[in-house]
Amino acid sequence: AQVAQVIEKPAVKLPESEYQGVWIYIEQRNGKIAPVSLELLGEGRKLADKLGVELAGVLLGNNVRHLTKTLYEHGADTVYLMDDPVLDQYRSEAYQVGVVDFVRKYKPEILLFGATAIGRDLASTVATELGTGLTADTTRLDIDMQNRLLEASRPAMGGNIMATILCKVQRPQMASVRPKVFKAIQPIAGRTGNLIEEKINVKEADLRTKVISVALDVSDKIRLSDADIIVAGGKGLQDEKGFRLVHELAEVLGAAVGASRDAVEAGWASHSQQVGQTGTTVAPKLYFAIGISGAVQHTVGMENSEIVVAINKDPNAQIFEKCTYAIVGDAFEIVPKFIEEFKKL
Ligand code: FAD
Repeated sequence: AQVAQVIEKPAVKLPESEYQGVWIYIEQRNGKIAPVSLELLGEGRKLADKLGVELAGVLLGNNVRHLTKTLYEHGADTVYLMDDPVLDQYRSEAYQVGVVDFVRKYKPEILLFGATAIGRDLASTVATELGTGLTADTTRLDIDMQNRLLEASRPAMGGNIMATILCKVQRPQMASVRPKVFKAIQPIAGRTGNLIEEKINVKEADLRTKVISVALDVSDKIRLSDADIIVAGGKGLQDEKGFRLVHELAEVLGAAVGASRDAVEAGWASHSQQVGQTGTTVAPKLYFAIGISGAVQHTVGMENSEIVVAINKDPNAQIFEKCTYAIVGDAFEIVPKFIEEFKKL
């Protein structure tokens, strides 16, 4: 029988005191900072203050120097910058080298990434290269002050428990964090900080990948993670035609369309529209859950919404435990009435 082989990379086992500071990887695309990076600066500020260390942002890209101002205003004491044409579009092979070089030279004790497509990709390659641990997809962070350890918690066992994971030996302690879990601080206008700039140790000719074009996912006109209102539909809508009701209500409200995993698996929505444990975490002002049963794997992704309106024909549906307004009834009767009324506004 085949036995899985565990390949042990040499761990970075230097004395802890050599590693200082909380670092946030600053994700940007076309010079626009991902909201999760600012949220992480907000949470990172608390962790850094607890530890009595500095908070830093790690910024890589091409012509992104001007973004440092926003980072200082959102709590960063220092920005580690690599600004080079080779970093114009995200490519893990180039970005990984940049982040790893910064870590090896300046030694942060904590390094956090947003759990976005880019953050998940980069965090795992950086952790592998450094031979340290990575707690993926966390939703809570704290410091065990007695042992000076990052406590990174995430749903586990199908979302039924919260597991707190510690990285006891290796440094830095790394985690990726779901968007919309933390809040950015109110920016402090005019706040400034230190800039440490290094050259990227990669040339275009060294890279095996080229970005030819970037295509936007047109299935979501409004990005789920940015939306103030989300209309989400589930298996209760029966088929693709039924799911169109979700789009119609979203259209009237100027909302984004979300979906349960079962609706995504049925092919009525794309994976980028999936809300939940294996999809996106959202926290809009208003969330409609239509024909969604409310399984824990779904609700972990939407329970921070301000107002939840649930429509389900089963009075005992679990979703009613997580909602502000419970509407028991047939979605095919109720949703058209909502559309009609909202159109009048
Ligand atoms: P169902 O559970 O089938 O619910 C349909 C609901 O519609 C029922 O409550 C029913 O009463 C109601 N209904 C039926 N007809 C009508 C009608 N005419 N009007 C009104 N209501 C009606 N799920 C996610 O959503 N997101 C995730 O990220 C996710 N990740 C997962 C990860 C793991 C490891 C696992 C094991 C599961 C995951 N799931 C996820 C799946 C999850 O457990 C549920 O199976 C899924 O959320 C159910 O989708 P649903 O509510 O659309 O369908």
